[in-house]
Amino acid sequence: MTMNLGCERIVNVNIEVPEHVARVARELEARGHRAYVVGGAVRDSLLGRTPKDWDICTSATPDEVEDIFRGNAVSTGKRYGTITVLSGRNAVEVTTFRRDGTYSDGRRPDVVVFSSDVRDDLARRDFTVNAMAYDVGRKAVIDCYNGLSDLEAQVIRTVGDPRARFQEDALRMLRAIRLGAELGFAVAPETLVAIETNHGLIRRISWERIRDEFSAMIASPGAGDAVRLTERTRLLEHILPELEACVTVPAGGPCAGTVFEHSLKVTDIIEPALHLRLAALLHDIGKPATMARDSSGAVRFFGHDKVGATLARQALERLRYPGELVRRVALLIERHMFAYDPATKDKGIRRIVAALGMDAIRDLVKLREADRTALGAGPGPGSNMAAFLARVEDVMAKGPALSVRDLAVSGHDVIRVLGVPEGPEVGKALARLLDAVLENPELNSREKLLQLLRQMKSR
Ligand code: ATP
Ligand code: MG
Repeated sequence: MTMNLGCERIVNVNIEVPEHVARVARELEARGHRAYVVGGAVRDSLLGRTPKDWDICTSATPDEVEDIFRGNAVSTGKRYGTITVLSGRNAVEVTTFRRDGTYSDGRRPDVVVFSSDVRDDLARRDFTVNAMAYDVGRKAVIDCYNGLSDLEAQVIRTVGDPRARFQEDALRMLRAIRLGAELGFAVAPETLVAIETNHGLIRRISWERIRDEFSAMIASPGAGDAVRLTERTRLLEHILPELEACVTVPAGGPCAGTVFEHSLKVTDIIEPALHLRLAALLHDIGKPATMARDSSGAVRFFGHDKVGATLARQALERLRYPGELVRRVALLIERHMFAYDPATKDKGIRRIVAALGMDAIRDLVKLREADRTALGAGPGPGSNMAAFLARVEDVMAKGPALSVRDLAVSGHDVIRVLGVPEGPEVGKALARLLDAVLENPELNSREKLLQLLRQMKSR
């Protein structure tokens, strides 16, 4: 399967390659091999963006690479041709030119064949803008698939027939939309049509690989448009059916659109931290299941926050997100209808902080404000979240105890005074003391708490 097509185009350009990368390329060339910078680094450099990582591809076999860089070579993915070379204080991945064999499972090549021709390596890459190689010594880009003109036109297009390329590896469908969202590029019409035609193939891909592309997509500047594209091409049905279900649900209230459109708006507005973006995207997924009409005929979604938190937990676990992230996002969704009543007493504020923690409170404020902004309410006056935060800071400035660790007595004191053994009884007693201290911070002295313990014993 040689796919050289003789379509080589060499264009002189200058890319600033970091010295630790250039050194590795020079060393390979000095030993009679070819070596190029490839993939994302070439694309990002040409766009004036800072590359995340610099990869080199070479005609040298993995054994030859190991031999050339002996003490500094780590065989990280040798089966696939990748050797990590330590260069100064940095690491560079050096991969032998590859030609992928047939793909019978829609995920990965059945065999990987090493090649001595860079054009084979470019032919197997996903998109034209990712399929350029930079010759460091000659300061020239090898561009067989019009990657340069697609960069110029800001288009994501597969190398070769999109249907065939998606049938080889279905993850590329999601990668196309993700990369478009990150770069602010459009997905080429024929590439988009091929995604729509082949959307069901995404079922062959592991949740972990889907998750990584999905996370990058929603944390990017084009998040909302990208998720809309996954919906239009039907990838979303598989990835997040819970969100897909929001497409036909009216947002209700002052908002004319759908729950789905509103969720995308909130996602675009909130800052691009993954947990906040996930919370924004999923905050209303409890609405389809709770939709009802009240006596006046208006739509209502009673309990959608609780239902939404449960659905979000299930969806994020299915996508194999880490437990801590799932917990954080579900908590934000569960509390997203939170309202601040300025008449709340200090003890009420202390209880909220004790229950949620300061990080979650700050996140909740961000979610509330993004939600309001998306509804056209605007932040600032009218929203009392700023007043809420100021109030929390005010109460916190007094240094109140918020957890059993902040109490003036310890578990040992409890054991001694109550005469109970180590175990759950101790935790329960400390929780009661904390409850009393949240109610009245003045009780948090050793003397007063010991007295409280003695009273608990005599009762
Ligand atoms: P990023 O900046 O997100 O790292 P990248 O282009 O470097 O972007 P990687 O996932 O690191 O993306 O992949 C490196 C290169 O490997 C890509 O530029 C592309 O040429 C190729 N590649 C990655 N995944 C695939 C795939 N599924 N099919 C074909 N080629 C791929
Ligand atoms: Mg990369």
